[in-house]
Amino acid sequence: MKCLYCQQLIVLKLTWRTLFLPERKPLCRTCEESLVIIKGSRCFICSRPSERNKCEDCLWWEQLSERDTIQFNYSVYHYNNFMKEIISKWKYRGDSSLGYIFGHVFAATFRKLRSTLPQDIVAVPIPLNEQRQLERGFNQAAMLAGFLPIQTMEILERSTSEKQSKKTRNERIQSVNPFIVEKAINKPVILVDDIYTTGTTLRHAGKVLLEQGCPFVCALTLIRG
Ligand SMILES: [Zn+2]
Ligand SMILES: [Zn+2]
Repeated sequence: MKCLYCQQLIVLKLTWRTLFLPERKPLCRTCEESLVIIKGSRCFICSRPSERNKCEDCLWWEQLSERDTIQFNYSVYHYNNFMKEIISKWKYRGDSSLGYIFGHVFAATFRKLRSTLPQDIVAVPIPLNEQRQLERGFNQAAMLAGFLPIQTMEILERSTSEKQSKKTRNERIQSVNPFIVEKAINKPVILVDDIYTTGTTLRHAGKVLLEQGCPFVCALTLIRG
């Protein structure tokens, strides 16, 4: 077995357990240890490591509107340099197989949250715009949603093609909502995306879903930027 990222051979310690239940690890130990899972106290709205229940950013969001459009976002990993490297190869250089690095941990995180979520929740991945989807050949958010043990519904569409990363924080927050709902849904939704940065994308998506009658929106993201 080779590491999905650096291609080094993965040497498994041979024990009675691994002999009968061979572990399928996507990464070698060095790569695995270079990814950092968020642990300890965190903001329960946005997953930022924080001693308080709600971080300053989330208090700010609260003041901005009476009703937040996502109940909470839960992120799995910190955004460190190694993660940046993987993401850039995965997304921007289109190596879709790198997504499998995250399958196990992403699904395990969902299972950990499961008891706090509504029963019939469905996964809705954040879409790419058509152009980007064509260039990349896959949507990383849809790939992540596919790892979850629940139904995925790709019901959002993105209407504008502006590059988010070129805008300042305030421009992003004030920008028009890029999402439209293709098909209204009356089930609770867990939005799935690769990264939570300012939270604007997920809140925009949450807003259109709620407006179309969706009863509950939360989010699961791979990384807290
Ligand atoms: Zn490796
Ligand atoms: Zn927060």
